[in-house]
Amino acid sequence: MDITPSKTTFKGNYIDGRWQHASSGKRRQVYNPATHALIGEVADSDVNDAIEAIQAAKRSFYQTRKWRDTNAQSRADTLLAIAHKMSQERSQFAYLDTIDNGKPLREAEGDVDDAIHCFEYYAGLLKAPYGGGYDVNDGFGKMQSYTVCEPVGVCAQIVPWNYPLLMGVWKLAPALAAGNSIVFKPSELTPLSTILLFEIFDEVGLPQGTCNLVIGTGEAVGAELAKNMDVDMITFTGSTAVGQSIMRAAADNVKKIDLELGGKSPNIIFSDADFEGAIEWAMLGIFLNQGEICSAGSRIIIEKSLKDRFVARLKQRAEALTIGNDLDNPDMGPLVSEKQLARVLNYIDIGKKEGATLVCGGYQLTDKAHQNGNFVAPTIFDNCTSEMRIVKEEIFGPVVTIQTFETEQQAIDLANDTRYGLAGGVFTSDGAKALRVIQEVRAGITWINCYNPTFNEAPWGGYKMSGIGRELGIYGLREYQEVKQINTNLNPGPVGWYQH
Ligand code: NAD
Repeated sequence: MDITPSKTTFKGNYIDGRWQHASSGKRRQVYNPATHALIGEVADSDVNDAIEAIQAAKRSFYQTRKWRDTNAQSRADTLLAIAHKMSQERSQFAYLDTIDNGKPLREAEGDVDDAIHCFEYYAGLLKAPYGGGYDVNDGFGKMQSYTVCEPVGVCAQIVPWNYPLLMGVWKLAPALAAGNSIVFKPSELTPLSTILLFEIFDEVGLPQGTCNLVIGTGEAVGAELAKNMDVDMITFTGSTAVGQSIMRAAADNVKKIDLELGGKSPNIIFSDADFEGAIEWAMLGIFLNQGEICSAGSRIIIEKSLKDRFVARLKQRAEALTIGNDLDNPDMGPLVSEKQLARVLNYIDIGKKEGATLVCGGYQLTDKAHQNGNFVAPTIFDNCTSEMRIVKEEIFGPVVTIQTFETEQQAIDLANDTRYGLAGGVFTSDGAKALRVIQEVRAGITWINCYNPTFNEAPWGGYKMSGIGRELGIYGLREYQEVKQINTNLNPGPVGWYQH
């Protein structure tokens, strides 16, 4: 059944070019984590909606073929039109991500700008030359061999709640640029900005069935996307545990996979680093987005001689952070949900029981100004060891652990003592040392004398249990393409191999 979208919180799925309710009619409430106020109602879809969307994408890719057969110039024009409409809605996008996720408004505004640039970047990149020719001439005569890139087909995409718009756009922009058809599932906790984005897709006239939106839980919708035999590729950003289950399900039809998973990233600080610079970047590393960042610098590994001075200053600055309603632009907003709040508080308890020294924070804010939201004070644990769960496991909140080293090798060993390999940083004024150490850190995203800046142009992804594949940059486009070799005999006719 058709229902009319609004400019703010449309409540349905977008399947085969039509807005519609979940087939069961079920709805899900969406709440502002700063106030627990109801901010929207959306479809609560199930496996039937997932299948309907997959079939729409399949028809659009394999039968009607409109987007797939659109030439690169026109596809680029459409991506630019999307970027243009997004910039007209910049404040609305930022507002929606802020009230939905809890991130401070100025952070959400930055996310929207990045998302707009992401569409612009891929609009340019999709017209760049690709493929290559190969010198293959041998005993079979004169041949020409070259490669072309083609879209993968039906791509299912699943994203988490921490960067609702941006994590989606990192997948949608390159997949559309490459000419795929898509079924997209946002986090059921934070679907509002995605709905606005799909209203824009509708307005710019993406061909019917090219890009489908299904809102629902991971169990009900996501699991079907991972296992369905008509999905050619699944890309997922989220926790490592769910990533593993997606990888298993994807094995059934050997889907192409791209997994952007969790992290527990080291931030190595040498005593010769710019002191105030290292302090502020360390804060950006762990307190940005309330620490709900996969690349968070959640393990500070610091030279012993600097540790006491560093921790004292970090405490002072952490305690000065403002925490409040995201729309008031505090330094930190609320955690996304009560479940996430409980998870972070539980880890704080574990840290205390494990014998780490609580330097500051470690509690939920419950005074009048904060009593309705999921607010946690910035938390620092000192005297941590690699065996502690708070050092090993991803907490995904504003909680940082401190460990010390005396030699460069000890710093590297501590940094790599983890199953994850997403990100890492090093702070020192010795350039050669910085390069030596960063080259030894087993992680896909690294920073020297800074932490967390992210660029559309540079590939994003992890080593080890932090994932498979890369988003963004040229690599991000290639993930959504198949490469085909085409070998041509330039002298058609018998080759003379068989004599009889
Ligand atoms: P999550 O794994 O619980 O959920 C992510 C998405 O997967 C959601 O849309 C959810 O509905 C869906 N999902 C849940 N169970 C599923 C299932 N069985 N099958 C298919 N889909 C399912 O993660 P989250 O709590 O939303 O986000 C936090 C996690 O995301 C953290 O681990 C964080 O490190 C990770 N993350 C990674 C990156 C990266 O780039 N590597 C970026 C952002 C977040």
